[in-house]
Amino acid sequence: MDMATLWEQLKRDWAGKAIHLGHGAGGKQMDELIRRIITPLFDMTGGPLEDAARLDVGDLGPGRLAMTTDSYVVSPLRFPGGSIGHLAVNGTVNDLAVSGAQPLYLSCGLIMEEGLPIETLIDVLADMAEAARTAGVRIVTGDTKVVERGHGDGLFINTAGVGWVPQDVDIGIHRIRAGDKLILSGPLGEHGAAILIARGELALESDIQSDCQPLKRLVEAMLETGGVHALRDVTRGGLGSVANEFAEGSGLGLMIDEATIPVPPEVHGFCDVLGLDVFYLANEGKLLAAVAPEAADAVLAAMRALPEGAQAAVIGEVVEDHAGRVVVRTEFGSHRILDKLVGEQLPRIC
Ligand code: MG
Repeated sequence: MDMATLWEQLKRDWAGKAIHLGHGAGGKQMDELIRRIITPLFDMTGGPLEDAARLDVGDLGPGRLAMTTDSYVVSPLRFPGGSIGHLAVNGTVNDLAVSGAQPLYLSCGLIMEEGLPIETLIDVLADMAEAARTAGVRIVTGDTKVVERGHGDGLFINTAGVGWVPQDVDIGIHRIRAGDKLILSGPLGEHGAAILIARGELALESDIQSDCQPLKRLVEAMLETGGVHALRDVTRGGLGSVANEFAEGSGLGLMIDEATIPVPPEVHGFCDVLGLDVFYLANEGKLLAAVAPEAADAVLAAMRALPEGAQAAVIGEVVEDHAGRVVVRTEFGSHRILDKLVGEQLPRIC
């Protein structure tokens, strides 16, 4: 059965039903939820469920295993451009990809609040299945827990991911050098703005969509071109936070040219109205790269050849001065220090 047919059938079968405590109790109802909804949607076909997935990974060659985990608590569960399901897969896949790993397998831990409509759950799991297929990873194990009504907020998801870093791939903050070009993969702020608008607390209308997307293919194209020293996905905390991680971790300075940073006009207007700084606004499908200067043009061209990197830009460089700090050359020509974010600009953004 194809995905769309399965999804339609599940929605019909479970219409009007809600999660109750029995769905997390380890008994018959939980079993039914897993066997009728979760394993078919995630295509976990095969024998009886066991305590751990055992995976025949074949011959991956010399290298290292990469492992990461992330929890997703975004509110609302669905927003323009995606859902908590897309985030839960893409966020973890992207953490693996920017580590130089080929993402392989994910886990899916669900913490559901009693009363969650099962149709909502089906939609989110279908989003996860779709995102996993797009990213070329498999969801191979999971867990379901139910908390009493009022003790959660619908649905929280944790995903862990494993991937394989081939021996010849060595990227990380330890490789950043003075002179490296800083390349940003695309416009800033769409995810943060989309979530705020979706919450409906602001009298604002906008077409801004979350940028939630997998970066695996983009990273592959960059690594194939060569000269990439460090990568990090720009998520919660925004470009300001990732730039500070680069500066602090390398002990070098980052000089960023504000005028070169792509910001969609709607996001610009949104930040102006609300007094938000786009440098700290969340993204879910962008990365920052430090690239050897002689390779920067080729890496930029490889990025721009893909839709997820079409608006990639060189936004600055790594310098010997300003050790451990990020300096922004503003559009007016003055300089300002871009500090680390203090506190939380927007809670439950991912
Ligand atoms: Mg990350």
